[in-house]
Formats: sequence, structure tokens, C-alpha cells
Amino acid sequence: MKCPYCGGDCIDKDMVNLYLKSVEMFFKFQSDNELVKKYPPAGEIGECKKTFNRIYLCPYCKEPFKAYYNNGKAKIVCPNCKKTLLLPITNRSVC
Ligand SMILES: [Zn+2]
Ligand SMILES: [Zn+2]
Repeated sequence: MKCPYCGGDCIDKDMVNLYLKSVEMFFKFQSDNELVKKYPPAGEIGECKKTFNRIYLCPYCKEPFKAYYNNGKAKIVCPNCKKTLLLPITNRSVC
């Protein structure tokens, strides 16, 4: 898995595994509840060691991508597979 910024080895594999495990629960819950049309949160799997930018992971295509914000909205779109995701929980502003 390469860093989307510098192509280096910036991604923490433990963070990736932890995230994929937690998002597994989301998909399980979602398939048990047809009425729940929620989006999974993108994974925050570390930051680039060279640019210090955050790295996100898409739970659908499992590709890392550059973190970005969507004008204060909680939804973002994976640049690889174009699926809708939520911002990682840690980045959502708490009011
Ligand atoms: Zn990097
Ligand atoms: Zn994707």
C-alpha cells in the first residue's frame, strides 16, 4: 500500500487492519438493516511522513487516498471508486 502523496511507506498497517475490522461491523449491521442507508466512514490511517498530510482509506476499494474536506459537509467521495463516504469520526466537528 503506497502513500497517495509521496508513494512511500507512510501507511500504518496496524491502523489499516484496525479500521477494516471496525468497518466490517458497519457493513454487517447495514446488511441486517435494509432501512439503514448510512455511509461508512473513511478510515484515517495515518499521515504522510514527508508532507504531513492525512491519509484516508476507502472501505470499498481499500485504496488509500488524500484526505480532503468537502466545504464543511460530512460526506466525501472516494476518488478511486466514487463511492460516498463520511469523514472519519475524528475529523467531524463536535458542536
Ligand atoms: Zn508519504
Ligand atoms: Zn474507493
